[in-house]
Amino acid sequence: VTDSRFVIQVVLPTPAHSRLPEVLSYRHTQALPLGTLVRVPLGARELLGLVWRAPAGITAADCDADSDVASAALDLKPIAAVLDVAPLTVAWCKLMAFAASYYQRYVGELVMAALPPQLRELDAVQMNRMLTKRHKKRQKSEADAAPAPATAGSDATPRALAHRSEQTQAASLVRLSSEQTLVLAELAKPDSRPILLFGATGSGKTEVYLRRVEAVLASNSAAQALVLVPEINLTPQLEARFQARIEAQFGAGSVVLMHSGMTPAQRLASWLSAHSGEARLVLGTRLAVLASMPHLALMIVDEEHDPSYKSQDGSRYSARDLAVYRAGVDGAQVILGSATPSIETWHNAAVPVSSAEAIGAAKSGRYRRVDMPTRISSAAMPKVRLLDMRLQKKASLLGGSIAPALLEAIEQRIVRGEQSLLFLNRRGYAPVLHCSACEWKSDCPHCSAHQVFHKLDRRLRCHHCSLVSPVPRQCPLCGNLDIGTQGRGTEQLEESIVQALERNLGGANTARVLRIDADSAKGKGRLEAQLASVHAGDVDVLVGTQMVTKGHDFRRITLVAAINPDSALFAADFRAPERLFSLLMQAAGRAGRDVAVSAQAEMWLQTHHPTHPLFKALQNHDYPAFAQSQLAERQGAMMPPFSYQALMRCEAKTQEAAQAFLDHAAALVHSEAVFEPWRDPQISGFVTLYPAVPMPMQRVANIERAQMLVESASRAALQKMLAAWQPYLRELKVASIYRWALDVDPLSI
Ligand SMILES: [Zn+2]
Ligand SMILES: [Zn+2]
Repeated sequence: VTDSRFVIQVVLPTPAHSRLPEVLSYRHTQALPLGTLVRVPLGARELLGLVWRAPAGITAADCDADSDVASAALDLKPIAAVLDVAPLTVAWCKLMAFAASYYQRYVGELVMAALPPQLRELDAVQMNRMLTKRHKKRQKSEADAAPAPATAGSDATPRALAHRSEQTQAASLVRLSSEQTLVLAELAKPDSRPILLFGATGSGKTEVYLRRVEAVLASNSAAQALVLVPEINLTPQLEARFQARIEAQFGAGSVVLMHSGMTPAQRLASWLSAHSGEARLVLGTRLAVLASMPHLALMIVDEEHDPSYKSQDGSRYSARDLAVYRAGVDGAQVILGSATPSIETWHNAAVPVSSAEAIGAAKSGRYRRVDMPTRISSAAMPKVRLLDMRLQKKASLLGGSIAPALLEAIEQRIVRGEQSLLFLNRRGYAPVLHCSACEWKSDCPHCSAHQVFHKLDRRLRCHHCSLVSPVPRQCPLCGNLDIGTQGRGTEQLEESIVQALERNLGGANTARVLRIDADSAKGKGRLEAQLASVHAGDVDVLVGTQMVTKGHDFRRITLVAAINPDSALFAADFRAPERLFSLLMQAAGRAGRDVAVSAQAEMWLQTHHPTHPLFKALQNHDYPAFAQSQLAERQGAMMPPFSYQALMRCEAKTQEAAQAFLDHAAALVHSEAVFEPWRDPQISGFVTLYPAVPMPMQRVANIERAQMLVESASRAALQKMLAAWQPYLRELKVASIYRWALDVDPLSI
């Protein structure tokens, strides 16, 4: 013990508001390299920690530099144990340091998000026992001459295995289009810039991803690749396809998954496999961007525009943006793929053509854009038809929501043996019940929202706090028996279409209607079974929320209809049009994926605003025109990407308390006597703090929420101001509020 004279700096996986210092000191008998995983005492507990240096000072030399030897070391608590796991790399530690500073968090909070939960829970003895077992298992499987699919067992689902043999066979048959070949040649060029792969839906991006991964992994026997997808559970085919192709070439166990739906044991196994270099490809969701991959050579962010890449709690990082940073420190290639890129990414990749020069040409070309406009096997893009709802007689609308012409088009598909997809982004039967005699509405008592009427089990449900109540027989206010519904949800749409088809097509020719939304997909395996029945052709009409618009490769769908897309057109959030365009483009992409039926493929939009430019651009499948108009609008209003934002959020028992906290935080900044950085005109001249306001969803589960926008034309000024603000904020008295949090680059304001 007397020999424990080395001072070791450690970060603990704790958030900033835990009121501990960001870096703690311990003593140990020898120096430990940066990134070593240790167990350390804290109070009565023992926690997982990571050996750290001052973030600014991380260099390659830190890897083996001796820790400081201090005479004060004896006053420190000793490190309890050093885990028998290779230290995290310098590049990985740099990623943590950058993410912590950019998103204004403690390093430990990012480390907590990055490490699998079980790594924190197992003590050193349990951990070492587990590692020994794992090591033995690996030796055994390597010794077995016979191929051992069991190695991948922990990660491979039965359905993935079932797909495997047929997929492997299919792989050798896949012939690249000339466009795919050209794109792959572009991707192979030595250019370190991030790449935007701008590819139409159905243009064969997945095959390009696969080939690029194969090429990179084959070029270097240690190289690793990371493929990020928005939601893995919605696209089981993708998982099966990657697993089959990569494992066929690089061996069983060369592919691991990483997403929050896995068990703690599976997540730890995947993490260790990636960390040891055994896994060559990690396929995962947002959290996988923080995975330890010592030989990372390629990152692909599929559907890079998807909002799910931004974490909505904890450290609130953007996996897409971190991937771009990480590519820099790891010297890896990063490919952002999308048919409808985020406006920010599009701006970064803008090519300096004459039309784009007007809008921020100075920044153009920070990313390299590679286009892939053609649908595979020359399947045509679906024809977009705008159905002017102003011309429809209300009484003629089926179930109050479907125009007769649309119903006719659906019936034609059924007769031809093709499928239709009706899309409505509202689940339940009706969004609200109301009394026609008084003003009663089925409001949630705990939230600023209505309780939604679900007819199937006769319940009112709040989709925000999950409160469930029975449907009242009469108006709770005035006793009126005539309570009605307002608006329509997917349940009602399903009911209307079933009734209409029964009536029109007759009993012998019953159409099969299936609804897929968060309610129908509840329960393990339900969603997969439902999707399988669509693929098998057991469904004529598919009714669903945006769940059904993403990524699915439905071959027989020739009609996609958006029942009520108007609501997002005039939303307060400046990103609403971008999201609507991408959602509709994605949905349109579900139609006509099979060349045999692509000529009949149509997308119908029921709208009261048929001349809206967004719909016009959609009709022409013209994302660039849409993006350009968005960029022009945002530049005029100085919105991102022409300005940078952070949102301070606060939750409290009352709205007054929440806003008072934010006002106080703002007053602190404006008082130059207290907040020194504000005296710097490079900061105060460029940063604006807006007044505190209630959040768009003001109350959820009886918690009042308020927010304050901080905006700047200079990213550097905003970052400096936020960093200087943090220590002051942490000192603020928080007794009157529940919590506060800062969201850098918020997705919605
Ligand atoms: Zn009433
Ligand atoms: Zn509620």
